[in-house]
Amino acid sequence: GLSLQAILETVEQAPVAISITDTRANILYVNSAFEELTGYSRDEICGQNESVLSCKTTPLEIYRTLWRTIQSGKEWRGTLINRNKAGDRYLAEVTVAPVLDAQRNITNFLGMHRDISVIH
Ligand code: FAD
Repeated sequence: GLSLQAILETVEQAPVAISITDTRANILYVNSAFEELTGYSRDEICGQNESVLSCKTTPLEIYRTLWRTIQSGKEWRGTLINRNKAGDRYLAEVTVAPVLDAQRNITNFLGMHRDISVIH
């Protein structure tokens, strides 16, 4: 089978920006694609909230729906206007999914996003 190390390397090298947070969206881990897309290094982004990526122009109702969905144990997909470390905006296609333990309690959230600013 696949070793734990190989699973870690797969997440680390996945060609999509991945972050893992606590239940309040405080960032615990980001992969290499996340660092590249956002411009934040792992050391500076870990401990911060996912809201640092918010450009503050996405309507509040979208965030309310996101939180209602993920807290009910379902995944949410949508488009958010994000801001990278340099302050530049980009359009992000975002998926946020809850991570459940054996008792089906939410332990973490998994975020995955891509820059879709440039439509081919
Ligand atoms: P806030 O005022 O903090 O939040 C806006 C509204 O969201 C609140 O009024 C409330 O209804 C709801 N809300 C916020 N935090 C909570 C909470 N802890 N519990 C329940 N409801 C809450 N946002 C982005 O803009 N871009 C991203 O790429 C992104 N990725 C995320 C990835 C993950 C894994 C998770 C869990 C969240 C992600 N978010 C992302 C959402 C982010 O955490 C913020 O909620 C969002 O950015 C709004 O932050 P704000 O400071 O603008 O507004």
